[in-house]
Amino acid sequence: MAQVQAQKFCKVCDRPTLHAKQTFGAGWGLLITVLTMGLFLPLWLIIILGNAAEPMLCQSCGSKANLGEDKGMAFVIVILIGLVAFGFFWLKYGY
Ligand SMILES: [Zn+2]
Repeated sequence: MAQVQAQKFCKVCDRPTLHAKQTFGAGWGLLITVLTMGLFLPLWLIIILGNAAEPMLCQSCGSKANLGEDKGMAFVIVILIGLVAFGFFWLKYGY
């Protein structure tokens, strides 16, 4: 697990504050994906997607940050998962 931090505007504090959340470390995801010869990749993408949907918490008051930007990220990941799924089907039935 790794911690992601970002400066975001907190509606409760009414000023930009440090926000943070725990994420699944990219290094671990890569390592497990290599060890499982790619089998972990779809699961990893789902974990990243679930994580992107999770709000960052204000480190001053503990309230949840506005999810606006994170939703854009989740959208990108949904498209990535679609491409990976398409790739699997293409490899299986495309010839
Ligand atoms: Zn706050």
